[in-house]
Amino acid sequence: MLTPLNKLNDTIKQLAQQAGRNPHAIQWIAATKTQAPDTLRALFMAGQKQFGENYLQEALLKQAALNDLAIVWHFIGPVQSNKTQGIAQHFDWVHSIDREKIAQRLNAQRPLTLPPLNVCIQVKIGNEASKQGASPEAVIPLAKTIANLEHLTLRGIMALPPLSKNNLEQRRYFKQAHEIFEELKALGYPLDTLSMGTSEDYPSAIFEGATLLRLGSILFGKR
Ligand SMILES: *Cc1c(COP(=O)(O)O)cnc(C)c1O
Repeated sequence: MLTPLNKLNDTIKQLAQQAGRNPHAIQWIAATKTQAPDTLRALFMAGQKQFGENYLQEALLKQAALNDLAIVWHFIGPVQSNKTQGIAQHFDWVHSIDREKIAQRLNAQRPLTLPPLNVCIQVKIGNEASKQGASPEAVIPLAKTIANLEHLTLRGIMALPPLSKNNLEQRRYFKQAHEIFEELKALGYPLDTLSMGTSEDYPSAIFEGATLLRLGSILFGKR
């Protein structure tokens, strides 16, 4: 069952107002891993145009089934180097660049017939072994590299911090990502995207400055 989009959008708007933020500054993408093409189609018809996928092969099947729709496709999963070509060819955004080699390959493999690929640097906040991401210290050198790549447009920072039941701890993680985002902007990078917040923790992400939430289970139920 799809949570009615109006209700979700209202909740986001209310949280934005509580946080003293402009509701229009907060968008979200539907995180659609494991969801069938028909589910994406229904969501598109209901007004949601931006989708995030984690696995290239799975995404390609859905893209083929939905190629009549003007969907904006975001790649949000870990990027393996043997998948960069397909990702460069079939996505509008990549949120999860965590090292130079991946950035270089996506740049070299982006078809010249397409606009530059929008990218975010995934920063690793917290110490979970299972999570990808550049260390906070590695972000500035990586941003410098990406800014020099003609076929990539650096849009911002992505974070997927550990989930915490402690609200203050949760906010502290998001705050760290926000500080890195602001640090890059202060260095002159023209960034507009802070991609953070899932179904479990998006209210905290909104309070800490997220501009792009990535929501799955709140729309589709538990995977
Ligand atoms: C699955 C996923 C999400 C969405 O998580 P939910 O808890 O289902 O909202 C967000 N970001 C990434 C990178 C994901 O893989």
